[in-house]
Amino acid sequence: SFHKSKGQHILKNPLLVDSIVQKAGIKSTDVILEIGPGTGNLTKKLLEAGKEVIAVELDSRMVLELQRRFQGTPYSNRLKVIQGDVLKTELPRFDICVANIPYQISSPLTFKLLFHPTSFRCAVIMYQREFAMRLVAQPGDNLYCRLSVNTQLYARVSHLLKVGKNNFRPPPKVDSSVVRIEPRKPQPQVNKKEWDGFLRVCFIRKNKTLGSIFRQKSVLLMLEKNFKTLQAVLASLNGSTGEAAGMDLGDQSMGMEDDDNEMDDDGDVEMDEGQGGEFKEKVMNVLKEGGFEEKRSSKLSQQDFLYLLSLFNKSGIHFS
Ligand code: SAM
Repeated sequence: SFHKSKGQHILKNPLLVDSIVQKAGIKSTDVILEIGPGTGNLTKKLLEAGKEVIAVELDSRMVLELQRRFQGTPYSNRLKVIQGDVLKTELPRFDICVANIPYQISSPLTFKLLFHPTSFRCAVIMYQREFAMRLVAQPGDNLYCRLSVNTQLYARVSHLLKVGKNNFRPPPKVDSSVVRIEPRKPQPQVNKKEWDGFLRVCFIRKNKTLGSIFRQKSVLLMLEKNFKTLQAVLASLNGSTGEAAGMDLGDQSMGMEDDDNEMDDDGDVEMDEGQGGEFKEKVMNVLKEGGFEEKRSSKLSQQDFLYLLSLFNKSGIHFS
C-alpha cells in the first residue's frame, strides 16, 4: 500500500524511465543522487548508467524493499541508501541528481539543491506540471513569477519531457514534467536574503507598476526602517554617537514556498502625493533613474531586477 502523504507515486512505465535516464546524460563515472527511490524502478536504470547511486528515502518500508531488490546483485555495492527526510539530510557530494520526487517538497528541495555547497553538473527532476512551467517561465509568460526569477538567477532551467499522470501508480491528480536544472558557474554574487526580500516586494503583485508597489505604505515603512537601522550601524562604526542598533533582518523566510499567490486585495494604502516625505522621494528617484516607475514585474528580466536592486543598494536602500 502506498502513502499518499509521502507523495508515493511509482513510475510504472519502463519506456518513460528509460527516456528520463537517457535525457539526463549520465556518464559512467557519475555519482548520482536520487531522492525518493521508492521501490527502485528508476534506481535500477541509474545503477546501470552511472558509477554509484546514493538514494535518500524517507519511508523505512521502501528502504527495506529497495535493499531486498538489489541484494546479491552486482549492483548492491554501488548503491548506498540513506534513510531520512531529504530536507533534513546533509547531502553528499554528487555529479548529477535524478529524481521523481514527492511534489510537496518541490520548492524547498529545489533551493536546497541550488544552495548545495559543492558543485554538481545538473539535476533532472520530475515536478508537477504547473510547478515545472513556473520554473522555466520567461518574462511575459503567464506563469512567470517570483519562483521563475529566483531559480533562474542561480541556474539555467529547461523543460525536458511532459509526463501524463497515467505513467504512475497510483496516478496523481495532476500531470507532470521533467525539468533540467544546471547551476550557473560561477554562482551569482548576490546577497541571498537581499535578493529574496527585493523580489518579494516586486512580486507583491506582478501586474502592478513598480511605481505603485513602492508607494505602498507598508513597503516604504519597511524600507525606511532598514535604511535607518543601517545608518545607525554605520554611524556607530564610524565612532560617532549613533546607537549600535542590531541589524534587523526581519522574519522573512528565504522564499522557498511555491505559493506566491497574489492577493486580490492586499488592503494596503498608497501614500498620496506629498505624503511620506523625503524617504519616499528617495525611493521614487531610484525607480525614475532606472526608468522602472511604469514597469511591471511580470515583464522584467533577471538583468532588469539585478540592475534595479543595484540602484537601490547604491542609494543605501536595502531589503533585508
Ligand atoms: N522514485 C520512485 C519511482 O519513480 O517509482 C518513487 C517516487 S515517489 C513520487 C516519491 C518517493 O519519495 C516515495 O518513495 C516517498 O516515500 C519518498 N519521500 C517522500 N518524502 C520524502 C522526503 N522528505 N525525503 C526523502 N524521500 C521522501
